[in-house]
Amino acid sequence: MHKAGRHFLQIPGPTNVPDDVLRAIDHPTMDHRSPEFGALGQKAIAGMKTVFKTKADVVIYPASGTGAWEAALVNTLSPGERVLMCETGHFAWLWQRLATRLGLEPEIIETDWRTGADVAAIAERLERDTDHEIRAVCVVHNETSTGCTSEIAKVRQALDAAGHPALLMVDVISSLASIDYRHDEWGVDVTVGGSQKGLMLPPGLSFNAISAKALEASNFAKLQRSFWAWDEMLNANKTGFFPYTPATNMLYGLVTAVERLHEEGLDQVFARHQRHAEATRRAVRAWGLEVLCRTPEHYSGALTAVVMPDGHSADALRKVVHERLNMSLGNGLGRLADRVFRIGHLGDFNDLMLAGTLSGVEIGLKLAGVPHFAGGVQAALDYLGEAAGKAVADAA
Ligand SMILES: *Cc1c(COP(=O)(O)O)cnc(C)c1O
Repeated sequence: MHKAGRHFLQIPGPTNVPDDVLRAIDHPTMDHRSPEFGALGQKAIAGMKTVFKTKADVVIYPASGTGAWEAALVNTLSPGERVLMCETGHFAWLWQRLATRLGLEPEIIETDWRTGADVAAIAERLERDTDHEIRAVCVVHNETSTGCTSEIAKVRQALDAAGHPALLMVDVISSLASIDYRHDEWGVDVTVGGSQKGLMLPPGLSFNAISAKALEASNFAKLQRSFWAWDEMLNANKTGFFPYTPATNMLYGLVTAVERLHEEGLDQVFARHQRHAEATRRAVRAWGLEVLCRTPEHYSGALTAVVMPDGHSADALRKVVHERLNMSLGNGLGRLADRVFRIGHLGDFNDLMLAGTLSGVEIGLKLAGVPHFAGGVQAALDYLGEAAGKAVADAA
């Protein structure tokens, strides 16, 4: 049945795609062996390097983020090798399971799923690993199941302080182009990205940014790989081509999305996400509810996970919001199922969209009979108004 007005897609990915990015994708299918394609491929790769903040190699897979997770591991590691993985939430857990299935030996540093990676525990483990059995350290930058970020620069410092040669691998699938990230400056060896979150594209593309050290490791890595192999991809990429059929139309969208990010300015994009995250947390507290992330230094700019009061179902709330208000909110994943709901405030998003989103949550809390105080939306509006007023004053 037709529902008037736009659907509010406020899950933390896939996110809203700007109309001009959709228009760019809506283009006749092209010959992916033609000279025109080579130029497009080169432009797309060069654009992604600016988003990863790297001068190193970036490859683009026609795959969801999970594919790029697998690519990072199979290109650099050998069967039975030990990898140190930080279980910050459900996505980190999925990456561990993938590593196990590939025949790696993940060693897990747990958290309570309410904070970022435990850097002190990582440092301690690396110091003890004097034989350098750990071949890689894997961290999810923005844990999309919890709304907690991890401090990647500090993980790098822990590796350096221990003089440990392990590769550093980071999942930025939900932080790329929404939370500040620096592949080169932070000394990351493989960064894993995806298209459908901060990058404002539909699902379907994923990325590896690859340091020289990771590329060197790929010469000795013994895990089986074919589709994901970096060497054939990088060889074809020199002239902008791919070893197999790329997602041509998505690449038009990618070039446009990267242009839009730079028009706004990456720093402004990150500040916008932080502003929306802060406004959202103020709304949550005014409702008398709890933000899942318990350590402010790990608050995510991309999404906020909200804890339901005991005895109340997050999925019942999401259902009523979907049916009555035409808005999608994120569900609780893994051990957080039905215990939290997640508000995505990333990608192509502005103050008024946030105001609408939070209004939908406040109405939904009422409809679902969840105990709360009124005034969450007002608290967010007050903050957004202050921030806008400050921007006007600064510009004058
Ligand atoms: C969405 C997401 C993934 C999974 O990506 P898919 O595109 O669904 O394969 C992995 N890690 C994080 C942090 C994510 O947010």
